[in-house]
Amino acid sequence: MRLSGMLLHTTREVPADAEVISHQLMLRAGMIRQVAAGIYMILPMGYKVLKKVENIIREEMDRAGAQEMLMPALNPAELWIESGRWNVYGKELIRLKDRRGRDFCLGPTHEEMFTDLIRKEIRSYRSLPLNLYQIQTKFRDEYRPRFGIMRGREFLMKDAYSFDTDDEGADASYKSMYEAYTLIFKRCGLRFRAVEADSGPIGGSVSNEFMVLAESGEDEIVHCVACDYASNVTKAETLEVDYPAGEQSRPMEKVHTPEMKTVDEVCRFLKVTSKELVKTMIYLADDTPLAVLVRGDHMVNEAKLLNFSGAQELKMADSAAIQKITGGPEGFSGPVGLEGIKVIADLAVKGLKNFVTGANENDYHLLSVNIGRDFEVHDFQDLRLLEADDPCPRCGSTLTIEKGIEVGHVFKLGTKYSQALKATFQDAQGEEKLIIMGCYGIGVGRSMAAAIEQNHDEDGIIWPMPIAPYHVYILPVSMKDGEVLSAAEDIYSACIEAGLEAIIDDRDERAGVKFKDADL
Ligand code: ATP
Ligand code: MG
Repeated sequence: MRLSGMLLHTTREVPADAEVISHQLMLRAGMIRQVAAGIYMILPMGYKVLKKVENIIREEMDRAGAQEMLMPALNPAELWIESGRWNVYGKELIRLKDRRGRDFCLGPTHEEMFTDLIRKEIRSYRSLPLNLYQIQTKFRDEYRPRFGIMRGREFLMKDAYSFDTDDEGADASYKSMYEAYTLIFKRCGLRFRAVEADSGPIGGSVSNEFMVLAESGEDEIVHCVACDYASNVTKAETLEVDYPAGEQSRPMEKVHTPEMKTVDEVCRFLKVTSKELVKTMIYLADDTPLAVLVRGDHMVNEAKLLNFSGAQELKMADSAAIQKITGGPEGFSGPVGLEGIKVIADLAVKGLKNFVTGANENDYHLLSVNIGRDFEVHDFQDLRLLEADDPCPRCGSTLTIEKGIEVGHVFKLGTKYSQALKATFQDAQGEEKLIIMGCYGIGVGRSMAAAIEQNHDEDGIIWPMPIAPYHVYILPVSMKDGEVLSAAEDIYSACIEAGLEAIIDDRDERAGVKFKDADL
């Protein structure tokens, strides 16, 4: 490629909203341009890299036996109504009507479409297993698009869907995708970790995320220093806590705590630690109120709570609802005397004695509260976020928490979609059975951005070779010196002939400008 003929404008300035280095460098290096929030043009130099990532993905997917195809981005609403997701997907789903008033959405993911295809095409066990994939534009009206193409509203995704006749087959498909992903991200030159993950709105029972390790990552991941346990913090399990045995219950006492609402305020005032206090949070799980108890130093993990409740939506009750449900104001809720509401407690609350809670009365707390004597807990569950000092849930060793960028996510879906859309096959005995599914996504642009997060210096991007836009950069320092120029041209031709991807900076620019751009 001759730079003189390329659409490539490097810039020094980047807008203030380009918070992360990959976003800044992609703008500065003339790889992307923003059209609207989360919507980007990918310019020639950027597209070279994107295509390379795409090709690595394609090669490994093909090698794993998956078949590439292409689905439309426009999805008829009927399929999403059938799967039940039309109403639960929320505002991220971009919905529109055609000229006849028929509802559509722009696919944020394609479980419905692929399941629809398979239910129509597949009759017999003989046609299974299958793994189909596409590399296609997805649309999600993200609440907070940011970091350039890392979290866009329109972005390129590789999505694959596997269809099997039984659980063993589905497990094998999942394993093969897990291995393909490992190869893909290795080939892209990324340092990453596969972690256990929550399945979220895609659904299913088991899932793993592939996390690129980077300080700018939006996810927190935890791994054990001793065993191979690794998990997204939102999914990480926490255990019961051993409390010293033999502590005697003391009589419960109501104390005046004027305007003490936060854990810190109450603890300081009562001279107790946050470990001796139990917070009572009132949630609405699809309108059903729930009182959730966690220790004062712990945080509720809303993903765990949502999964446990089985509800579609979870939100914290507002102050009016808290007043109605508990009889007291916000900041003073407690489990004692609550009626008509299920009380669930985190595992770390089990075994705790003589703790402090709110009294469901303005400016009052209770001291020396005890489970069983003063109130009942309907269920003890793992409901909290893991903390850095928690032990490994598998082996009890120390854990390390670091930041990660989710570049890929694999899911065991089971029969969630085949059941909803009635995708069945006939087994060898002629019996009608549900197809077992898995789905597997990779953010193509996000992987490219993640590679920059891990590989750069203050002057520019240092591409891992397999995804570098070019392999050889020829920079004639003077365009006036005939000898320099002809030597440069000779090297360029030799590179092209040898099949190397070469770029020659044949622009009539000062050497300093060229060096700066080359670095970028
Ligand atoms: P996140 O938690 O970051 O929002 P997600 O869990 O919603 O991601 P999936 O539904 O698992 O993402 O999508 C598969 C892959 O698509 C992700 O692993 C990620 O690499 C990519 N991806 C998801 N959302 C975006 C986005 N808004 N912009 C770019 N890539 C995305
Ligand atoms: Mg995900």
